[in-house]
Parts: sequence; structure tokens; C-alpha cells
Amino acid sequence: MQSLLPVQARLGEGPHWDANSGCLWYVDILGRTIHRYHPASRSSAALILQDDVSTVVPRLGGGLVITLGRGFYGLDWDSHVLTLLAEVESDRPNNRFNDGKCDAKGRFWAGTLDRGEKEPLGGLYCLDLDLSVHKMLDGVIVSNGLGWSPDNQTMYYIDSATKRVAAFDYDLDRGRLSHRREIIAIDTGTPDGMTVDAEGMLWVAHWDGGRISRWDPVSGTQLAEYLLPVDRVTSLAFGGPDLTELFITSARHGISADALSRQPLAGNVFSFTAPVAGLRSYGFAG
Ligand code: CA
Repeated sequence: MQSLLPVQARLGEGPHWDANSGCLWYVDILGRTIHRYHPASRSSAALILQDDVSTVVPRLGGGLVITLGRGFYGLDWDSHVLTLLAEVESDRPNNRFNDGKCDAKGRFWAGTLDRGEKEPLGGLYCLDLDLSVHKMLDGVIVSNGLGWSPDNQTMYYIDSATKRVAAFDYDLDRGRLSHRREIIAIDTGTPDGMTVDAEGMLWVAHWDGGRISRWDPVSGTQLAEYLLPVDRVTSLAFGGPDLTELFITSARHGISADALSRQPLAGNVFSFTAPVAGLRSYGFAG
């Protein structure tokens, strides 16, 4: 496990491997910053925004789509021009978007939370290719990791407050969820971000658990875990030319000065070569 990028993010999140450009995108939600890292040239770039930015994905037609505050926005990286695509929860000013990801058809799924992170005031939304936005789940407390099985027939989802990973039957053609069931219980810290590997196993980041773990979604058993030198492990994504490099984000936010002195790498991006490849990630196709 290597500390790859010493960015000291307040709340590092949302790693996304962009295979077309060979870049890793990620965000610092509370630092209101989008980061881009190009491993081949070891070059980094960042863009600071005016609100909390929680997810960034490439847009197939060009540019990026991000979740910023309570909106989905198009973003031109070079000109910094933002274009509102859709807004949610205009009646809930204390809410903001959190984790998000695109499905294999290029729909953009992202969930929200109430900033107090105690009340079930958030939801899970799907931005469709025609830019219509649909509320797919209600009563969410802290919407977090998303992922799909290799055959796209199952969607996995974490509301961190439940300390569970849930699974749904997924209708990829229609972008619809059904038959929710809880498949994995996490008791080491709190489950946060998630990704899926090519064998269909789930990888989960443990907030206040100082680790990532790999799980079999059928049996609900843990297969492996890897420790990090920081407590607040937030999310992870496979990348690199053969999708075997795991990029892992972390946070400094909410850690006491005393505890921070014992984990000076908190907020950095870590990486290691995984024993299995990941699934490819998708951009927004609308
Ligand atoms: Ca998260």
C-alpha cells in the first residue's frame, strides 16, 4: 500500500478511472476541489469550485458531469464553464449530493444526504440520458457506494447509516431497481465507497475502519482485507492500463489534531496492485 498522492484532502472521494484519457479523477468534497491525476506523466491538476463537489465522470460527448451541491452539472474542464443539467431537493437546503456512478448504459446514479447525517432525508437519483432526473430511493440517510455485477443484473448500494451493503435486481434496459435485500453487514467502521471486480466480488472502503475489504456478494462472507495507515478510508476504484491498480481515497475531516498527528497521511490517495482486475467504469452518455 503506497501513499500515491499527498493531497491531504479534507474529504477525498469519488475516484473514477477514465480509460480514454488514462487519468484518475477524484474530488475533495469539503475542499470543493476536483483533482485529475495522469499516472503516465505523473502530472496532477485541480479545479476549485464554489460548492461541495461529490462526484465527477467524463461525458461521452465531451467535458465532464459532476454533482455539485444539489445539482448535476456539465463542466468544461478547460474553460471552467458550468451548466446546470438538473437539480434535486430544492426544498432541502441542508442536503447535498454524495457518491455517484454511471451504469453500463451511461445513466448517472447519485445519492444525497442531510448534512447532519442522522435523518433519512436523502434519496438516490438517476439522471437519464434525456437529462430527466428520477428519484429511485427515498428515506436515505447517507447515500454512498454504488456498483453493478459483471452481468449488470444486480446493483449494489450502501446507505452508510445502515452499516449494510444492499443488493437489488437491476433492469439495465430500463434503469429500474427491484427486490431490495441486505447482503453484507459491516462492523469494522462504517461502509463508505464501493467497487466491483471482474470476478463479481465487492470491494468496500471502511470509514473509521482503516481498511478496505473484499466480499463475496452471494455468500456475504469477507474474502480479504487490506489495512491503511489512516482511519477514514472513503472510496476506491480500479484503474491503470489493465485495471489492476486500486486507487483509494481518504479524509482528514473530523479527526482530532491529536489523532491526526498519528496519521499524517490522512487525506491522501493510496494505491496498490490488486490480485484481480476491476470492471471498467462508465461515463455519462446523455
Ligand atoms: Ca462517501
